[in-house]
Amino acid sequence: VPLSPQTEQLISDRARLLGPAYRLMYEEPLHFVKGEGVWLIDANGRRYLDAYNNVTSLGHCHPAVVEAIARQAGILATNTRYLQDGILQLAETLLATMPEEPGHMMLTCTGSEANDLAWRIARGFSGGTGIVVTQTAYHGITDAVAQYSPSLGPSVDLGRHVALVPAPGDPGAEGPDGFAEAVEYAIAGLRRHGIRPAMLIVDTMFTSDGVRAGPTGFLAPAVEAIRRAGGLFVADEVQPGFARTGERFWGFQRHGVMPDIVTMGKPMGNGHPVAGIVVRPQVVDEFGRNARYFNTFGGNTVSCAAALAVLNVIARDGLQANSLAMGQRLMEGLRSLAGRYPILAELRGAGLMIGAEIRSGGQPDREATARIVNGMRAEGVLISSCGKHHNVLKIRPPLIIDAAQVDLFTETLGRVLEGVSA
Ligand code: PMP
Repeated sequence: VPLSPQTEQLISDRARLLGPAYRLMYEEPLHFVKGEGVWLIDANGRRYLDAYNNVTSLGHCHPAVVEAIARQAGILATNTRYLQDGILQLAETLLATMPEEPGHMMLTCTGSEANDLAWRIARGFSGGTGIVVTQTAYHGITDAVAQYSPSLGPSVDLGRHVALVPAPGDPGAEGPDGFAEAVEYAIAGLRRHGIRPAMLIVDTMFTSDGVRAGPTGFLAPAVEAIRRAGGLFVADEVQPGFARTGERFWGFQRHGVMPDIVTMGKPMGNGHPVAGIVVRPQVVDEFGRNARYFNTFGGNTVSCAAALAVLNVIARDGLQANSLAMGQRLMEGLRSLAGRYPILAELRGAGLMIGAEIRSGGQPDREATARIVNGMRAEGVLISSCGKHHNVLKIRPPLIIDAAQVDLFTETLGRVLEGVSA
Protein backbone atom coordinates (compact mmCIF):
# COMPACT_ATOMS: atom_id res chain seq x y z
CA VAL A 1 0.00 0.00 0.00
CA PRO A 2 1.52 3.37 -0.99
CA LEU A 3 1.43 5.70 2.03
CA SER A 4 0.84 9.44 1.96
CA PRO A 5 3.88 11.71 2.60
CA GLN A 6 2.29 12.83 5.91
CA THR A 7 1.90 9.21 7.07
CA GLU A 8 5.50 8.41 6.03
CA GLN A 9 6.68 11.43 8.03
CA LEU A 10 4.80 10.41 11.18
CA ILE A 11 6.13 6.86 10.91
CA SER A 12 9.73 8.03 10.61
CA ASP A 13 9.33 10.58 13.44
CA ARG A 14 7.90 7.84 15.59
CA ALA A 15 10.83 5.52 14.88
CA ARG A 16 13.29 8.35 15.59
CA LEU A 17 11.64 9.44 18.83
CA LEU A 18 10.12 6.26 20.27
CA GLY A 19 12.57 3.64 19.06
CA PRO A 20 11.98 0.21 17.59
CA ALA A 21 9.75 -1.58 20.12
CA TYR A 22 6.37 -0.11 19.16
CA ARG A 23 4.14 -1.67 16.49
CA LEU A 24 1.42 -0.14 14.34
CA MET A 25 -1.78 -1.80 13.25
CA TYR A 26 -2.83 -2.22 9.60
CA GLU A 27 -0.81 -2.11 6.37
CA GLU A 28 -1.86 1.51 6.08
CA PRO A 29 -1.48 2.87 9.62
CA LEU A 30 -4.18 5.13 10.98
CA HIS A 31 -3.83 8.59 12.48
CA PHE A 32 -6.79 9.41 14.67
CA VAL A 33 -7.46 12.84 16.04
CA LYS A 34 -10.83 12.33 17.72
CA GLY A 35 -13.13 9.68 19.17
CA GLU A 36 -16.89 9.94 19.52
CA GLY A 37 -19.13 7.05 20.60
CA VAL A 38 -18.57 4.11 18.25
CA TRP A 39 -16.56 6.29 15.86
CA LEU A 40 -12.91 7.19 15.46
CA ILE A 41 -12.10 10.16 13.23
CA ASP A 42 -8.83 10.43 11.34
CA ALA A 43 -6.78 13.48 10.41
CA ASN A 44 -8.67 13.80 7.11
CA GLY A 45 -12.03 13.76 8.87
CA ARG A 46 -12.91 10.21 7.81
CA ARG A 47 -15.02 8.26 10.33
CA TYR A 48 -14.26 4.65 11.20
CA LEU A 49 -16.56 2.27 13.04
CA ASP A 50 -14.46 1.03 15.96
CA ALA A 51 -15.37 -2.64 16.34
CA TYR A 52 -12.07 -3.52 17.94
CA ASN A 53 -11.41 -1.41 21.02
CA ASN A 54 -12.21 -3.17 24.28
CA VAL A 55 -11.09 -0.21 26.39
CA THR A 56 -13.64 2.43 25.45
CA SER A 57 -16.48 -0.03 25.80
CA LEU A 58 -19.00 2.75 26.62
CA GLY A 59 -17.93 4.50 23.42
CA HIS A 60 -15.13 6.98 22.93
CA CYS A 61 -15.13 10.01 25.22
CA HIS A 62 -18.29 9.02 27.06
CA PRO A 63 -19.58 12.29 28.56
CA ALA A 64 -20.35 10.84 32.02
CA VAL A 65 -16.81 9.46 32.36
CA VAL A 66 -15.18 12.61 30.96
CA GLU A 67 -17.21 14.68 33.39
CA ALA A 68 -16.33 12.46 36.37
CA ILE A 69 -12.60 12.57 35.56
CA ALA A 70 -12.58 16.34 35.00
CA ARG A 71 -14.59 17.05 38.14
CA GLN A 72 -12.41 14.90 40.39
CA ALA A 73 -9.17 16.17 38.79
CA GLY A 74 -10.34 19.69 39.65
CA ILE A 75 -11.03 18.81 43.28
CA LEU A 76 -8.34 16.43 44.48
CA ALA A 77 -5.91 13.97 42.92
CA THR A 78 -4.24 11.93 45.59
CA ASN A 79 -3.45 8.41 46.68
CA THR A 80 -4.53 5.56 48.94
CA ARG A 81 -2.41 6.67 51.91
CA TYR A 82 -5.20 9.02 52.91
CA LEU A 83 -8.76 8.20 53.78
CA GLN A 84 -11.03 8.81 50.82
CA ASP A 85 -14.68 8.20 50.05
CA GLY A 86 -14.38 7.56 46.31
CA ILE A 87 -12.39 4.35 46.56
CA LEU A 88 -14.86 2.95 49.09
CA GLN A 89 -17.84 3.84 46.92
CA LEU A 90 -16.09 2.18 44.00
CA ALA A 91 -15.31 -0.94 46.06
CA GLU A 92 -18.92 -1.23 47.28
CA THR A 93 -20.23 -0.92 43.72
CA LEU A 94 -17.65 -3.22 42.14
CA LEU A 95 -17.88 -5.92 44.79
CA ALA A 96 -21.66 -5.92 44.44
CA THR A 97 -21.23 -7.10 40.82
CA MET A 98 -19.54 -10.27 42.11
CA PRO A 99 -21.73 -13.32 42.70
CA GLU A 100 -20.22 -14.09 46.10
CA GLU A 101 -19.26 -11.81 48.91
CA PRO A 102 -17.26 -10.78 50.77
CA GLY A 103 -14.21 -9.95 48.72
CA HIS A 104 -11.54 -7.29 48.78
CA MET A 105 -10.70 -4.91 45.94
CA MET A 106 -7.12 -3.76 45.29
CA LEU A 107 -6.29 -1.27 42.55
CA THR A 108 -3.49 -1.01 40.00
CA CYS A 109 -3.03 1.06 36.85
CA THR A 110 -2.82 -1.75 34.27
CA GLY A 111 -4.02 -5.28 33.68
CA SER A 112 -0.40 -6.45 33.68
CA GLU A 113 0.11 -5.09 37.18
CA ALA A 114 -3.14 -6.73 38.31
CA ASN A 115 -1.90 -10.11 37.03
CA ASP A 116 1.51 -9.49 38.58
CA LEU A 117 -0.14 -8.84 41.95
CA ALA A 118 -2.35 -11.93 41.57
CA TRP A 119 0.76 -13.97 40.90
CA ARG A 120 2.52 -12.66 44.03
CA ILE A 121 -0.53 -13.43 46.14
CA ALA A 122 -0.97 -16.91 44.64
CA ARG A 123 2.68 -17.76 45.19
CA GLY A 124 2.53 -16.70 48.82
CA PHE A 125 -0.77 -18.43 49.53
CA SER A 126 0.04 -21.74 47.86
CA GLY A 127 3.72 -21.96 48.69
CA GLY A 128 4.19 -23.08 45.07
CA THR A 129 5.53 -21.45 41.93
CA GLY A 130 3.91 -23.48 39.12
CA ILE A 131 1.58 -21.71 36.70
CA VAL A 132 -0.80 -23.32 34.22
CA VAL A 133 -1.80 -21.15 31.22
CA THR A 134 -3.17 -21.72 27.73
CA GLN A 135 -0.87 -22.03 24.73
CA THR A 136 -1.56 -18.64 23.18
CA ALA A 137 -2.47 -16.74 26.34
CA TYR A 138 -1.65 -13.09 26.91
CA HIS A 139 -1.64 -11.75 30.45
CA GLY A 140 0.70 -8.76 30.31
CA ILE A 141 4.10 -7.15 30.12
CA THR A 142 5.85 -7.19 33.49
CA ASP A 143 8.79 -9.58 33.60
CA ALA A 144 6.90 -12.09 35.74
CA VAL A 145 3.70 -11.90 33.69
CA ALA A 146 5.46 -11.95 30.30
CA GLN A 147 6.95 -15.29 31.41
CA TYR A 148 3.43 -16.71 31.46
CA SER A 149 2.21 -14.94 28.30
CA PRO A 150 3.19 -17.39 25.55
CA SER A 151 1.50 -15.30 22.83
CA LEU A 152 4.45 -12.89 23.11
CA GLY A 153 6.35 -15.47 21.09
CA PRO A 154 9.90 -16.76 21.18
CA SER A 155 11.45 -13.37 22.07
CA VAL A 156 10.20 -13.87 25.65
CA ASP A 157 11.38 -16.93 27.56
CA LEU A 158 8.63 -18.87 29.24
CA GLY A 159 9.48 -19.56 32.85
CA ARG A 160 10.47 -23.13 33.72
CA HIS A 161 7.61 -23.01 36.19
CA VAL A 162 5.08 -22.36 33.39
CA ALA A 163 3.08 -25.28 31.97
CA LEU A 164 1.06 -24.74 28.78
CA VAL A 165 -2.29 -26.33 28.03
CA PRO A 166 -4.12 -26.29 24.70
CA ALA A 167 -7.00 -23.83 24.46
CA PRO A 168 -10.41 -25.43 25.07
CA GLY A 169 -11.51 -27.16 21.87
CA ASP A 170 -8.00 -27.44 20.45
CA PRO A 171 -6.40 -30.86 19.91
CA GLY A 172 -5.58 -32.23 23.36
CA ALA A 173 -8.41 -30.29 25.04
CA GLU A 174 -11.52 -31.40 23.16
CA GLY A 175 -14.85 -32.46 24.58
CA PRO A 176 -16.51 -31.32 27.80
CA ASP A 177 -13.72 -32.69 30.06
CA GLY A 178 -10.85 -32.19 27.64
CA PHE A 179 -9.69 -28.90 29.09
CA ALA A 180 -9.74 -30.18 32.68
CA GLU A 181 -7.79 -33.27 31.62
CA ALA A 182 -5.20 -31.08 29.93
CA VAL A 183 -4.91 -29.01 33.13
CA GLU A 184 -4.46 -32.17 35.24
CA TYR A 185 -1.80 -33.37 32.84
CA ALA A 186 0.02 -30.03 33.10
CA ILE A 187 -0.15 -30.13 36.91
CA ALA A 188 1.30 -33.65 36.90
CA GLY A 189 4.07 -32.42 34.58
CA LEU A 190 4.96 -29.57 36.95
CA ARG A 191 5.07 -31.99 39.87
CA ARG A 192 7.40 -34.35 38.03
CA HIS A 193 9.79 -31.43 37.73
CA GLY A 194 9.49 -30.85 41.47
CA ILE A 195 7.38 -27.72 41.01
CA ARG A 196 4.37 -27.16 43.24
CA PRO A 197 1.40 -25.51 41.44
CA ALA A 198 0.47 -21.97 42.50
CA MET A 199 -2.26 -21.07 40.03
CA LEU A 200 -4.27 -21.73 36.92
CA ILE A 201 -4.91 -18.41 35.18
CA VAL A 202 -7.18 -18.04 32.17
CA ASP A 203 -8.88 -15.27 30.26
CA THR A 204 -12.38 -16.69 30.67
CA MET A 205 -13.18 -15.95 27.00
CA PHE A 206 -9.73 -17.16 25.83
CA THR A 207 -9.44 -14.07 23.63
CA SER A 208 -5.86 -14.35 22.42
CA ASP A 209 -6.32 -18.11 22.02
CA GLY A 210 -8.91 -17.27 19.36
CA VAL A 211 -12.07 -16.76 21.51
CA ARG A 212 -13.47 -19.92 23.15
CA ALA A 213 -16.90 -19.14 24.49
CA GLY A 214 -18.32 -22.58 25.12
CA PRO A 215 -19.75 -24.97 25.81
CA THR A 216 -19.94 -23.26 29.17
CA GLY A 217 -19.08 -25.48 32.10
CA PHE A 218 -15.72 -26.79 30.88
CA LEU A 219 -13.91 -24.55 33.37
CA ALA A 220 -15.46 -26.04 36.52
CA PRO A 221 -13.54 -29.36 36.56
CA ALA A 222 -10.30 -27.52 35.67
CA VAL A 223 -10.83 -25.20 38.65
CA GLU A 224 -11.38 -28.24 40.88
CA ALA A 225 -8.17 -29.79 39.56
CA ILE A 226 -5.99 -26.78 40.40
CA ARG A 227 -7.56 -26.47 43.86
CA ARG A 228 -7.01 -30.17 44.57
CA ALA A 229 -3.36 -29.56 43.72
CA GLY A 230 -3.18 -26.69 46.25
CA GLY A 231 -3.20 -23.87 43.68
CA LEU A 232 -5.55 -20.97 43.08
CA PHE A 233 -7.87 -20.24 40.19
CA VAL A 234 -7.31 -16.75 38.78
CA ALA A 235 -9.84 -15.40 36.28
CA ASP A 236 -8.30 -12.78 34.01
CA GLU A 237 -11.35 -10.64 33.24
CA VAL A 238 -9.42 -7.90 31.43
CA GLN A 239 -11.21 -8.88 28.20
CA PRO A 240 -14.54 -10.50 29.16
CA GLY A 241 -15.35 -8.40 32.23
CA PHE A 242 -17.64 -5.38 32.59
CA ALA A 243 -20.60 -6.89 30.68
CA ARG A 244 -18.75 -7.58 27.44
CA THR A 245 -20.25 -11.07 27.04
CA GLY A 246 -23.81 -9.81 27.53
CA GLU A 247 -24.85 -13.00 29.30
CA ARG A 248 -23.17 -12.12 32.58
CA PHE A 249 -21.23 -9.19 33.99
CA TRP A 250 -18.12 -11.37 34.38
CA GLY A 251 -16.89 -14.10 32.06
CA PHE A 252 -16.31 -16.63 34.85
CA GLN A 253 -20.00 -16.45 35.79
CA ARG A 254 -20.88 -18.02 32.44
CA HIS A 255 -19.02 -21.12 33.62
CA GLY A 256 -20.61 -21.20 37.07
CA VAL A 257 -17.26 -20.96 38.88
CA MET A 258 -16.00 -18.56 41.52
CA PRO A 259 -12.33 -17.57 41.20
CA ASP A 260 -9.97 -17.06 44.11
CA ILE A 261 -8.71 -13.91 42.40
CA VAL A 262 -10.37 -11.90 39.63
CA THR A 263 -8.13 -9.55 37.66
CA MET A 264 -9.51 -6.71 35.55
CA GLY A 265 -8.52 -3.63 33.57
CA LYS A 266 -9.05 -2.29 30.04
CA PRO A 267 -12.74 -1.14 30.03
CA MET A 268 -12.69 -0.40 33.77
CA GLY A 269 -12.02 3.33 33.18
CA ASN A 270 -13.26 3.56 29.56
CA GLY A 271 -9.83 4.87 28.53
CA HIS A 272 -8.55 6.13 31.85
CA PRO A 273 -5.83 3.80 33.24
CA VAL A 274 -7.41 1.92 36.11
CA ALA A 275 -7.21 -1.80 36.81
CA GLY A 276 -7.15 -4.13 39.78
CA ILE A 277 -8.11 -7.34 41.46
CA VAL A 278 -10.89 -8.74 43.58
CA VAL A 279 -9.66 -11.40 45.95
CA ARG A 280 -11.10 -13.73 48.56
CA PRO A 281 -10.26 -12.37 52.04
CA GLN A 282 -8.59 -15.59 53.25
CA VAL A 283 -6.39 -15.68 50.13
CA VAL A 284 -4.97 -12.19 50.64
CA ASP A 285 -4.83 -12.26 54.43
CA GLU A 286 -1.24 -13.36 54.85
CA PHE A 287 0.05 -11.30 51.92
CA GLY A 288 -1.63 -8.25 53.43
CA ARG A 289 -0.10 -8.76 56.84
CA ASN A 290 3.42 -9.31 55.49
CA ALA A 291 3.60 -7.06 52.46
CA ARG A 292 2.77 -3.38 52.46
CA TYR A 293 0.89 -2.57 49.26
CA PHE A 294 1.24 0.92 47.89
CA ASN A 295 0.79 1.85 44.25
CA THR A 296 1.29 5.59 43.67
CA PHE A 297 -1.33 5.92 40.97
CA GLY A 298 -3.29 2.73 41.54
CA GLY A 299 -6.49 3.75 43.31
CA ASN A 300 -5.90 7.49 42.99
CA THR A 301 -9.00 9.61 43.45
CA VAL A 302 -9.35 10.44 39.73
CA SER A 303 -9.11 6.79 38.63
CA CYS A 304 -11.71 5.81 41.20
CA ALA A 305 -14.07 8.49 39.89
CA ALA A 306 -13.62 7.19 36.34
CA ALA A 307 -14.22 3.57 37.32
CA LEU A 308 -17.28 4.41 39.38
CA ALA A 309 -18.75 6.38 36.47
CA VAL A 310 -18.20 3.38 34.16
CA LEU A 311 -20.04 1.02 36.50
CA ASN A 312 -22.89 3.49 36.89
CA VAL A 313 -23.28 3.98 33.12
CA ILE A 314 -23.31 0.22 32.44
CA ALA A 315 -26.11 -0.20 35.01
CA ARG A 316 -28.05 2.97 34.13
CA ASP A 317 -28.03 2.40 30.37
CA GLY A 318 -28.61 -1.36 30.45
CA LEU A 319 -25.43 -1.99 28.49
CA GLN A 320 -25.19 -5.65 29.45
CA ALA A 321 -28.60 -6.26 27.88
CA ASN A 322 -27.55 -4.23 24.84
CA SER A 323 -24.39 -6.29 24.52
CA LEU A 324 -26.49 -9.45 24.55
CA ALA A 325 -29.05 -8.20 22.02
CA MET A 326 -26.57 -6.57 19.66
CA GLY A 327 -24.24 -9.56 20.00
CA GLN A 328 -27.07 -11.84 18.89
CA ARG A 329 -27.88 -9.58 15.95
CA LEU A 330 -24.24 -9.49 14.94
CA MET A 331 -23.91 -13.27 15.26
CA GLU A 332 -27.00 -13.78 13.09
CA GLY A 333 -25.52 -11.48 10.45
CA LEU A 334 -22.22 -13.36 10.59
CA ARG A 335 -24.02 -16.70 10.31
CA SER A 336 -25.76 -15.61 7.16
CA LEU A 337 -22.41 -14.45 5.72
CA ALA A 338 -20.87 -17.81 6.69
CA GLY A 339 -23.59 -19.48 4.61
CA ARG A 340 -22.46 -17.49 1.57
CA TYR A 341 -18.71 -17.41 2.19
CA PRO A 342 -17.29 -20.74 3.37
CA ILE A 343 -13.99 -19.03 4.24
CA LEU A 344 -15.88 -17.83 7.36
CA ALA A 345 -15.50 -21.33 8.76
CA GLU A 346 -16.47 -21.09 12.43
CA LEU A 347 -18.10 -18.47 14.63
CA ARG A 348 -17.59 -18.35 18.38
CA GLY A 349 -18.52 -15.80 20.98
CA ALA A 350 -20.84 -14.35 23.55
CA GLY A 351 -22.35 -10.88 23.48
CA LEU A 352 -20.03 -8.42 21.80
CA MET A 353 -16.94 -10.62 21.99
CA ILE A 354 -16.80 -12.64 18.80
CA GLY A 355 -14.13 -14.69 17.08
CA ALA A 356 -14.63 -15.70 13.44
CA GLU A 357 -12.26 -18.38 12.21
CA ILE A 358 -10.96 -18.05 8.64
CA ARG A 359 -10.04 -21.28 6.87
CA SER A 360 -9.47 -22.27 3.26
CA GLY A 361 -9.68 -25.93 2.30
CA GLY A 362 -10.08 -26.76 5.98
CA GLN A 363 -6.76 -25.09 6.92
CA PRO A 364 -6.23 -21.88 8.91
CA ASP A 365 -5.72 -19.05 6.39
CA ARG A 366 -3.58 -16.38 8.03
CA GLU A 367 -3.01 -14.51 4.78
CA ALA A 368 -6.73 -14.20 3.99
CA THR A 369 -7.35 -13.11 7.59
CA ALA A 370 -4.86 -10.27 7.19
CA ARG A 371 -6.51 -9.29 3.89
CA ILE A 372 -9.92 -9.19 5.57
CA VAL A 373 -8.65 -7.10 8.51
CA ASN A 374 -6.95 -4.63 6.15
CA GLY A 375 -9.90 -4.71 3.76
CA MET A 376 -12.27 -3.78 6.61
CA ARG A 377 -9.97 -0.92 7.57
CA ALA A 378 -10.01 0.32 3.97
CA GLU A 379 -13.84 0.21 4.12
CA GLY A 380 -13.86 2.16 7.41
CA VAL A 381 -14.40 -0.60 9.99
CA LEU A 382 -11.79 -1.58 12.58
CA ILE A 383 -11.19 -5.16 13.70
CA SER A 384 -8.10 -7.29 14.26
CA SER A 385 -7.09 -10.94 14.48
CA CYS A 386 -5.98 -13.42 17.14
CA GLY A 387 -5.40 -17.12 17.75
CA LYS A 388 -2.51 -19.55 17.50
CA HIS A 389 -2.60 -19.40 13.68
CA HIS A 390 -3.50 -15.68 13.48
CA ASN A 391 -6.60 -16.70 11.57
CA VAL A 392 -9.43 -15.59 13.84
CA LEU A 393 -11.12 -12.24 13.29
CA LYS A 394 -11.36 -10.52 16.67
CA ILE A 395 -14.58 -8.52 16.79
CA ARG A 396 -15.31 -6.36 19.86
CA PRO A 397 -17.51 -3.35 19.20
CA PRO A 398 -18.39 -1.01 22.07
CA LEU A 399 -21.29 -2.03 24.30
CA ILE A 400 -23.31 0.98 23.08
CA ILE A 401 -23.42 -0.16 19.44
CA ASP A 402 -26.91 0.05 17.91
CA ALA A 403 -28.74 -2.09 15.35
CA ALA A 404 -27.95 0.16 12.36
CA GLN A 405 -24.25 0.11 13.26
CA VAL A 406 -24.29 -3.68 13.63
CA ASP A 407 -25.88 -3.93 10.20
CA LEU A 408 -23.26 -1.57 8.77
CA PHE A 409 -20.61 -3.89 10.18
CA THR A 410 -22.18 -6.97 8.62
CA GLU A 411 -22.72 -5.33 5.22
CA THR A 412 -19.13 -4.12 5.17
CA LEU A 413 -17.78 -7.54 6.08
CA GLY A 414 -19.94 -9.04 3.31
CA ARG A 415 -18.35 -6.70 0.74
CA VAL A 416 -14.85 -7.46 1.98
CA LEU A 417 -15.47 -11.24 1.98
CA GLU A 418 -16.82 -10.96 -1.57
CA GLY A 419 -13.52 -9.34 -2.60
CA VAL A 420 -11.36 -11.83 -0.73
CA SER A 421 -13.30 -14.85 -2.01
CA ALA A 422 -13.30 -13.62 -5.63
N1 PMP B 1 -4.86 -9.76 30.32
C1 PMP B 1 -5.51 -9.81 29.15
C2 PMP B 1 -6.44 -10.94 28.89
C3 PMP B 1 -5.29 -8.80 28.20
O1 PMP B 1 -5.94 -8.85 27.04
C4 PMP B 1 -4.40 -7.74 28.49
C5 PMP B 1 -4.14 -6.62 27.51
N2 PMP B 1 -4.28 -6.92 26.17
C6 PMP B 1 -3.74 -7.75 29.72
C7 PMP B 1 -4.02 -8.76 30.62
C8 PMP B 1 -2.74 -6.69 30.10
O2 PMP B 1 -3.36 -5.47 30.34
P1 PMP B 1 -2.53 -4.10 30.22
O3 PMP B 1 -2.16 -3.91 28.79
O4 PMP B 1 -3.48 -3.09 30.77
O5 PMP B 1 -1.33 -4.23 31.08
